[in-house]
Formats: sequence, C-alpha cells, structure tokens
Amino acid sequence: MRGSTVEHQLENFMNGVKRRNPGEPEFHQAVEEVAATVIPYTIDRPIYTEYQILERMAEPDRVVSFRVCWEDDENKIRTQRGYRVQNNNAIGPYKGGIRFHPSVTQSVLKFLAFEQTFKNSLTGLPMGGGKGGADFNPKGKSDHEVMRFCQSFITELYRHIGEDTDVPAGDIGVGAREIGYMFGQYKRITNHFVGVLTGKGMEFGGSKIRTEATGYGTVYTMENMLAIRGETMEGKTCLVSGSGNVAHYAVQKVNHLGGKVVTLSDSSGFIHDPEGIDASKLDYIHDLKQVRRGRISEYAKEYSSATFHEGKRPWGVPCDIALPCATQNEIDLDDAKTLIANGCTGVSEGANMPTVKEGVDHYIDAKIMFAPSKMANAGGVAVSGLEMSQNSARISWSEEDLEKLLKDTMTGIHESCVEYGRESDTYVNYLRGANVAGFVKVADAMLAYGVV
Ligand code: NDP
Repeated sequence: MRGSTVEHQLENFMNGVKRRNPGEPEFHQAVEEVAATVIPYTIDRPIYTEYQILERMAEPDRVVSFRVCWEDDENKIRTQRGYRVQNNNAIGPYKGGIRFHPSVTQSVLKFLAFEQTFKNSLTGLPMGGGKGGADFNPKGKSDHEVMRFCQSFITELYRHIGEDTDVPAGDIGVGAREIGYMFGQYKRITNHFVGVLTGKGMEFGGSKIRTEATGYGTVYTMENMLAIRGETMEGKTCLVSGSGNVAHYAVQKVNHLGGKVVTLSDSSGFIHDPEGIDASKLDYIHDLKQVRRGRISEYAKEYSSATFHEGKRPWGVPCDIALPCATQNEIDLDDAKTLIANGCTGVSEGANMPTVKEGVDHYIDAKIMFAPSKMANAGGVAVSGLEMSQNSARISWSEEDLEKLLKDTMTGIHESCVEYGRESDTYVNYLRGANVAGFVKVADAMLAYGVV
C-alpha cells in the first residue's frame, strides 16, 4: 500500500517536472534520482508535502541566459551563450562552478545547480546552490582568446553575482587561468576586491588546498566507506577517468594512501598503465594537460608500460575501486555491470552524475559501496566555502589546518549519509542518505521562511 502511494506520488511529481521542463533530460534525471529517495521520506512527514518543498526546490529561483560576443585571433566575431542558474539560496548565497564546454545547455546547468543545492547543504556550510557556464570550447584557443571570452562573459554576469549573493567557482574547462581572467574583469568593472569567485590564485585571495580538494575528498570518501568494512585503500587497484583537476588529485591521494591507479582518460579515449600512475607520471600528466594542453594519448607514447584505447572508456579494466572523474553519464548500465562482474566493490563519484540512473540502481542492488557525487565530490565546494570565510576575514589559513578541515568535513558528510542511509541488513544506501540529509536542512530553512 505504502509502496504504491510512493510510486504514485513520484510519477505525478515527475510528470509535472517533465511538463514544465521539456527537452531537459539531464535535469529530469537528476531530479528523479533525488525524488525517488526523498518522497518516501516526506510521505511520513506531511508538512514537507503540504508546503510543496520538493516542487519548489526543483524550480530554480532564476535562470539567467545571455549572449557572449568575443573576437578570435583572426578578428572574427564569435557568439556564444552564457548562463547562470540560481537554484536555491535558502541556507546561504548561491554557490557553484562555471563550466565552459560545447556540451553546455540549460538542462545540464539546471541539473548541476539542483545537485549543488543538496551537496552544499551536506557540507554543513552556509551555501545555496547555483551553477553557470557557456557553450564555449577553450580547447585549441590561445590564451588571449580565452581571456577575451572570459572578460566578455563576466561583463554580463557581474551584475548577477556578488560575495553575499552568488559566488561562482571553476568546473570543466574553467581552472586557475579562467578564474584569474574573470576575477580581473570583475574587479575592473566594480572596483571591488571581494571574494566573489573561488578557486582564485594564491596571490589574490585563493585558498590553499582548493585545487586538490575535490579529488582528495573523493578518495577520503572511499576511505571512509572502506573503514566501515574494516578495509583501507592500501593495495587497491583503482580506475580513474578524466585527466583534469579532479582526476589529477584523486590519483595523487590514492597514491598517498598506498593504492594503485591504472587508468586515466579524456574525451578521445583512455590509457591503461598496469604498472600504475606514480608521482613522476602524474607530473608528466600535469605538464601535458595543464601547461601544453595536450591529449591523454601522448601518455602511451611517453611510457611503454601503457596502452591507449581510442574512443573507449576505462570501465572494462578489472579493478577493486572506480573513481569516475570526467563528466556526466560516462558509466552506462553495461559499464556498471562490467565493473561489478570484474570485481569492483566500490565507486566514489568525483564527477557530477557520472553514472546513469540504471547503473546506480545496479550498484545498489549489488550492494557495493557507492558514494554519489553530491557526497563524494563535496570537498571542492567545502574548501570554496572556507575560501569565502578567509576572504571575508581577510586572512589565510595554513595548508595543515585546511587539509584537516577538508578531512573532517568529508567524515561529517559520511556520517550524515550513514545516519539517513543505513538499511536493516546494515548495508548503507549512501544515495538515499545523501539525498535525504541534504534535503532536510534546506527544507527546514524553507519552512521557516514561509511561502516565498
Ligand atoms: P577539467 O576540465 O579539469 O577536466 C575534465 C576532464 O574530463 C578532462 O580530462 C576532459 O577531457 C574530460 N571530459 C570532459 N567532458 C568529457 C566528455 N564529454 N567525455 C569524456 N571526457 C570528458 O574538469 P574538472 O576536473 O574540474 O571536472 C571534472 C568533473 O568533476 C565534472 O563533472 C565536474 O562537474 C566535477 N566537479 C569538479 C569540481 C572541481 O572542483 N573542479 C567540484 C565538483 C565536481 P577533455 O580534455 O578531452 O575535454
């Protein structure tokens, strides 16, 4: 009886979401994943239904979309579309990254801003959820082209953000270089030196550990899940996808903890190095991807122990642990089945929503350790929150203090997810735990405000 009521409510709710947001599959996917775990919780707490809390959380406070014109090195005028999705600021200023990638659409940014609302709540810090970006491809562009694009983007966005309103950060295609250009332009337009962006350079208000935080946090999460089973990362073979910021520091932390990473990838394919990607190979990757802005295939030319697999993803390589750190929907149901059939017992998602819904269901049915992205990659935004605090107080904390705060935050998130996700047979459904724990704090703040 209760099961059919839940199913009926979920169907009604999702019909409404799909009707109001046509042609936005990534947004539907993210909302459904949350609704499927939150609706069974709210059914016993009718106040949340009465006040339409989930419906309101799935309707962004506002979506700003704007034209971004810039001039390339051949003096041709180019036109891109920029966005900022301000999803929910019930518990603090909107906070979430900016993505520059040709695949950016309103649907992708709405899914990311929705997810960010729950993730930021889980950190325990006062941050609401937002996300932004543009369908601009930084790949193959000169530094000057990237600079002109960033300046044009901020010339429009600056009026919608502010240190107490909305504080963007980096994401795919937006790293230290882009944040520097955007902060420089913001400061020039407003004449305000304030913490309006995070992920800044150390010379102008950045926080130590911010660059490392997302990747490190993803591995700390895996370590916390393993600890419940009396295991550690020592000796574990890990697959990592991507080769950007999150992937890089996930590999570094796995190495620190005695594990071995055997894959990395980019949008052209993956490399498999059975000997492991050690610190010196990781330095090579940093130079290849961040300085020379090259392709991962070059790794296999540099190291004879490695092979490159064009157009493929790493999930067919046998492993103990998988850490997807590239992009959304990079693990489909077949990949999820293959991972588990080959012995994988844990997945910690560094990327946002890297596994399709059916794949997530398969992990949970198989009762493997699964940390969804809002739980596993919250370390980045947590340290961004600490960057905001340091900027407000005009101080700078030490690396040791920040790394301890990051570790403690990831442990706190893990504990909240266990509290709401423990099942009768002691299996922890971290998906439900993360969704419900993230929901409760935002929902209670919304109840306190009344209907606004
Ligand atoms: P980067 O731009 O530094 O790296 C992204 C990596 O993913 C690159 O290797 C890129 O390859 C690959 N990639 C991007 N799109 C695709 C695609 N469509 N197919 C295959 N590979 C792809 O980004 P980040 O490392 O910062 O972000 C990675 C993920 O982590 C994203 O999902 C992001 O939302 C999430 N995340 C990031 C945070 C952060 O602090 N940076 C915080 C929380 C989440 P290529 O070079 O070929 O494009």
